[in-house]
Amino acid sequence: MKTVDIIYRYETRDTSARPLPPNSHAALLRLNDGNRDFATLLDHVTDESGVIQQIIPVDPRDLGFASDAAGAPNQRPFAAVLGCSDARVPIELIFNEGPNDLFVVRVAGNGLGLEVLGSLKYAVEHLGGTLKLIVVLGHSGCGALTTAIDVFLNPGDYLTVAAKHSIRTILDRSLIVVQASANKLLSAFGSDVARNPGYRQALIELSIVTNAALSAYSIQQEFVAHDLPELQAVYGVYLLDTREVWAPRLGNIKGVGLAAAPRDLAEFANLGNALVQSDRIASYLNRETSEPGL
Ligand SMILES: [Zn+2]
Repeated sequence: MKTVDIIYRYETRDTSARPLPPNSHAALLRLNDGNRDFATLLDHVTDESGVIQQIIPVDPRDLGFASDAAGAPNQRPFAAVLGCSDARVPIELIFNEGPNDLFVVRVAGNGLGLEVLGSLKYAVEHLGGTLKLIVVLGHSGCGALTTAIDVFLNPGDYLTVAAKHSIRTILDRSLIVVQASANKLLSAFGSDVARNPGYRQALIELSIVTNAALSAYSIQQEFVAHDLPELQAVYGVYLLDTREVWAPRLGNIKGVGLAAAPRDLAEFANLGNALVQSDRIASYLNRETSEPGL
């Protein structure tokens, strides 16, 4: 049996456990490196009875453990992350980060409701000394987006949520992304694509990544560029089956790691082209039968 111990290591010393990234590029590299280490955890165990330790160094001052700590520790995250509430996507764990590293906002479907925007606005206005990056992280098989696709494909299903305002709010926000994704599949693969057994699954996965990209674009436009130009908004999709973050773009169809938010309509068009050319989307459309709903 392969064993991996994930250890949060506190050492009582004066220096910070890990230096903070000095800029958005360094912050992006750190998150991508951390995710790669997490995604390949078991790959490092070379024999079936092997044990390895994945050590995450933690500054004891971040939780008030240092003997000379005076009062509450200061908040000093280097990235804010908007993610889904899905229990299979624990944000700090999948990026190999510890306490006080990430300012995390989680809501079903990782959409931009007012409370989400307010929370991110707080981070931008109050944590600008250390904050270098804002991440929108969707995930494969997202239940919130899946429900929106099913309503799109079968509008009669909307009646089941019509009287549930809280759920309807999440769905309504997603439908423009679903419509745009459906149009992209139609233009790329022709009108027969809707009859493909893998169409629903392809539309789900296309909508999930488009939703994350659109949210990152909105954040970049709404207050990052205006309030803190050195900040950067990025997006990606956490794949439950490989544990990797995925964001295909032209020139990088495989698309491992977080990507910069599209800046305009032309970049959204490029993103759409990269997505429909990606192996992941093509794999759904090439299957003989559709998978059960996630
Ligand atoms: Zn989700």
